[in-house]
Amino acid sequence: MSTASTMKRPKTQDERDLLLYDSRLQRPIRMKTPELERDGRIRHAIFSGQFTVPFLEELAGIADMIRLMSKSRAGQDFLINLLPHKRAMLYFTQPSTRTFLSFMAACQVLGMSCNEVRDPSTSSETKGETRFDSIRMFSSYFDVVIMRSPIARLAESCAYLMNDLDSSGSRSVPIVNAGSGADEHPTQALLDIYTLQRSFQFANPKDSPSSNKLDELRERKGYDGLTKGLAHKTIGFCGDIGRGRTVRSLAMLLALYEDVRLVFVGPDHPTLAMREDMRERLVDRNVRFYEMDSFEDSLDGRPVIEQLDALYMTRIQKEHNNAADTDSLATIDFSKYCLTPELVSRMKEYAPILHPFPRDQHFGEIPPEIDNDPRAMYFRQARNGMWIRAALLAHVFDVDRLISRHFLTEYVERHHYNE
Ligand code: ASP
Repeated sequence: MSTASTMKRPKTQDERDLLLYDSRLQRPIRMKTPELERDGRIRHAIFSGQFTVPFLEELAGIADMIRLMSKSRAGQDFLINLLPHKRAMLYFTQPSTRTFLSFMAACQVLGMSCNEVRDPSTSSETKGETRFDSIRMFSSYFDVVIMRSPIARLAESCAYLMNDLDSSGSRSVPIVNAGSGADEHPTQALLDIYTLQRSFQFANPKDSPSSNKLDELRERKGYDGLTKGLAHKTIGFCGDIGRGRTVRSLAMLLALYEDVRLVFVGPDHPTLAMREDMRERLVDRNVRFYEMDSFEDSLDGRPVIEQLDALYMTRIQKEHNNAADTDSLATIDFSKYCLTPELVSRMKEYAPILHPFPRDQHFGEIPPEIDNDPRAMYFRQARNGMWIRAALLAHVFDVDRLISRHFLTEYVERHHYNE
């Protein structure tokens, strides 16, 4: 285990701030996870490695119930009366559209009120206040801090700060990581998994690209070994594998499922290729994974684009480019990492295409011509974010059981579950 003394010398104030928690930050995930829970429930949602398959299934069930209840006025009234006494702080000091708005909408679905700090130049951080003091202030006024930051591991450090406050009998609130540097985006991974779970139920044509039912896909379309659920699937990721925090978080969740294979398609460039820490985690979890440089590379004797059960596209995170990379990045043929209608037509008929968004219109990793293809699942994926985030907040505030009880008594009889 590395300690403060073995770390490279911190250069920025941010790095110096995190040193305070360094020995806790450097621990293996399994040692950190209990600290992020309370009474067997998630208290702080910090990285995807803390989630388990039973938790993902439970959360998806709650999200399904919330979305169904939200279709009726009576259901909406029930939901907004669950947490009207709770207030959320949305502390987003990095650009965000979907994550910010979907968290806000998720809070509103459950009746919570929200406030926001998006521009640190309007906060006391300009007067020299540390981020930890800011968070502690937010925790005095609000009941949860949902935070996005360019600083990797800040959210995790804030969770430890809250736990320390708790141990000393001070007020402490849950921390939800809504994106931390190029490191983790655990709630994006939750909505990505939820989208894939729904797709591979083959139950609702809106969620599954092929309107065919599973047995038809197997018998008539020749997808012999196709099964429901995420196990035994081959999932592709394309684009900026090295700096895409959504890729990192989702890959760790997919690694939980039996016999999943992960294929990473991206430029073989030190900045854009998979980082060593992620490679080590995947090896640790015994996942079969492949790093390829084109959709035409071969997997099981066929071009990989034809072999994927789902494809997760990403943009190149050029806001992280540094001067040293400029020349080498200029020599890469990025068109290989953009989908075309021709490539999509070669994909499996049922294989959903996901993207965490925003997509980059100049780069063109998913041109708009693909939007009408039934495999294009990215707009539905974004909407799923609101439901799964509402489910997560319901779990954190321990009202998920009220939702399932109400659902069982009021809904199961009257509605079809997957309408
Ligand atoms: N919105 C996602 C994120 O915050 C993906 C991206 O920005 O490319 O990481």
